[in-house]
Amino acid sequence: MKNTTQSDNRQENFLDLKNFKGEVSVHSPGRINLIGEHIDYNGGHVLPAAIDKKIYLSFRKNGTNACHIWSKNYQTGFTIDLDEVKPSQTEWQNYILGVIHYIHELKPNTVKGFDCVIDSHLPMGSGISSSAALECGFASGLNKLFNIGLTKGEIIILSRDAEHNYVGTKCGIMDQFAVVKGKKKHLILLNCQDLEHQLIKSEFVPYQLVLLNSNVSHNLASSEYNTRRKECDEALGVVNKKYPQYKYLVEIPENVIMTFKDELPEKVYNRALYVIQENKRTLMAANALEDELFEVFGNLLYQSHHGLRNLYEVSCDELDFMVDFSKDYNYVLGSRMMGGGFGGCTINLVHQDHVSSYIEKIGKAYKEKFNIELSPIEVNISNGVEIH
Ligand code: ADP
Ligand code: MG
Repeated sequence: MKNTTQSDNRQENFLDLKNFKGEVSVHSPGRINLIGEHIDYNGGHVLPAAIDKKIYLSFRKNGTNACHIWSKNYQTGFTIDLDEVKPSQTEWQNYILGVIHYIHELKPNTVKGFDCVIDSHLPMGSGISSSAALECGFASGLNKLFNIGLTKGEIIILSRDAEHNYVGTKCGIMDQFAVVKGKKKHLILLNCQDLEHQLIKSEFVPYQLVLLNSNVSHNLASSEYNTRRKECDEALGVVNKKYPQYKYLVEIPENVIMTFKDELPEKVYNRALYVIQENKRTLMAANALEDELFEVFGNLLYQSHHGLRNLYEVSCDELDFMVDFSKDYNYVLGSRMMGGGFGGCTINLVHQDHVSSYIEKIGKAYKEKFNIELSPIEVNISNGVEIH
């Protein structure tokens, strides 16, 4: 979003921020999503969980009307004048400016001057939602520091609104929900229409979830994300002319969408078909996990990737290579790209006895093919945002 910036990079504002100890410390996790990709904004079911890789934020009041924010990861900071909060031209600042803007709308004059240091152990743009971890962690920290009284539900919604309207990504609600409401050792089966949810135990023994970061992040991610949203709206709009009862794409039965094959542009039809099938897969996957049917679950991961690659068209060569490679190893039960797409991680279900040898094999093959290192990310399922 283009606008004037409140950015103030004068180093004197930040010199003592580099090692300071705050009054409030926040641990804000990233998230994984087992299945149900690009489904949240289509009103369907998703299966995320918060993880033990986190962004650490530290806050203190400074008794002024200015806020100084330092990102250790970027080794840069900026200053906000609370009387003039508006979008900046620097993307990462907008996650924070948006959060302050929407807290101000809900609870006027509660945020006063503060200093904040951000230190992240989450790779950015890898599909594990450093963005939601940043927004929700920031909102939770200010909530505690100034005793604002925001509910978890309000933090989830205002963080989503910040990403929509300050950053410009029209994301769904899954990331913020998982980051705030995650529970150790549990997956969240979330209905994104009404936010009804159910916790499912995340026991995969003798298998293990393995994230593999492709270390590519193709530029298309944000623009194509918004394009997919528009394509889904277009499909729903056409179907609604004949069947006005469906409020979301996921409510349309597969045999009904099939009757629109000739009426919809091919791409738009494919997007809708993917969404309807993926929502069904998510429900089947949740059942399979409850019954410990890991092979069934693994197969659903492969089907999900197939749809993301061929119908929704948000994959890329690197991710496809990784998923295809895994199919030759029968101790890998399933694999798919995870997150918005065009790079980032794959999520894999691998027999625990073969995890390290598999990582070595796929890492070597990936390096040979693309001359890029593959990074495994070890994750355990963890609680949502915690204040210390
Ligand atoms: P993902 O959410 O999958 O990591 P996004 O593109 O949605 O990918 O969000 C990544 C963006 O979030 C970064 O480009 C940056 O703007 C912001 N961000 C994440 N972590 C930090 C951090 N530690 N410091 C500053 N900005 C961050
Ligand atoms: Mg994100």
